[in-house]
Amino acid sequence: MAQGPSYAYFQGKIVPIAEAKVSVMTHALNYGTGAFGGVRAYWNDDEKELFIFRPLDHFQRVLNSGKLLMIDLPHTPETMLNILLELLRMENYRGVDVYIRPLIYKSSAVIGVRLHDLEADFTMFAQPFGSYIHNEEGSRVTFSAWRRLDDNMIPARGKITGAYANSAFIKTDAALSGFDEALVLNQNGHISEGSAENFFMVRDGVAITPPVTANILEGITRRTIMHLLSEEMGVPVEVRDIDRTEVFVADEAFFCGTGVQVVAITEVDHRPVGTGKLGPVVRQLRQLYFDLVRGKIAKYRAWNVPVYGPQL
Ligand code: PMP
Repeated sequence: MAQGPSYAYFQGKIVPIAEAKVSVMTHALNYGTGAFGGVRAYWNDDEKELFIFRPLDHFQRVLNSGKLLMIDLPHTPETMLNILLELLRMENYRGVDVYIRPLIYKSSAVIGVRLHDLEADFTMFAQPFGSYIHNEEGSRVTFSAWRRLDDNMIPARGKITGAYANSAFIKTDAALSGFDEALVLNQNGHISEGSAENFFMVRDGVAITPPVTANILEGITRRTIMHLLSEEMGVPVEVRDIDRTEVFVADEAFFCGTGVQVVAITEVDHRPVGTGKLGPVVRQLRQLYFDLVRGKIAKYRAWNVPVYGPQL
């Protein structure tokens, strides 16, 4: 497997990864005043092509996070995509899937907690990446004792670096207790999402997912999955608050996200979800999703941006 990354986009140009370093005084390092993205590119072996999945949507969300943080950069989703294409061609990843990390951050080297009167910068790197959760067809999940941050604390709709301390508490407690992941309740006691993924459950043939007002990240995979369920699989999607105990009586449940992809939840707090095995909706959805992201579904090719072949 290819090693990497060898390069990063840093301070306005692509440099060897060893040169992409910030000062210990950097504001974002001290106060969590950055925002990131997580994008995947998938290798299609038939076409010998690497396809980035929905990069413009990801970059738009990074820039939206910047709006929350008063980070104003001279970039558009298109300029960020051009940098990414150049970066990936320099890395020349072939035969592997890739994870891409764009990061915007308050770069001033100063003491003082605030958002205003600070410089900001944009950096990005990409590395080979496989699965994020090992038990993709049957994960064991617990309800976290931690709560999801509220929009009036640190907005979950932005991928704000400091907010991921919340995800780290959640993930570590679940992992050290022997679970694959955790479900997180918001301040209202309803299901928000996982530590770094959105949540769906299936009841009586309907897929249900929490609304964006439930303190979730506005997931790009969530949007993709909602489309696949309703348009390709004929499964109606309902967006509404979900109670904790509804999961115990659901037929199927799953997490989705760029990192996690589509992961079946087959057990929650020692109770089987449905049959306790990978169910038919999640099985079909996983198949569709992996075909889609690898550029194998012709009608969705606008979502697959080729790295080496013909450009946009
Ligand atoms: N929720 C959280 C908290 C996340 O960190 C992620 C991963 N980016 C997601 C949901 C899934 O979002 P997306 O599908 O856009 O990757």
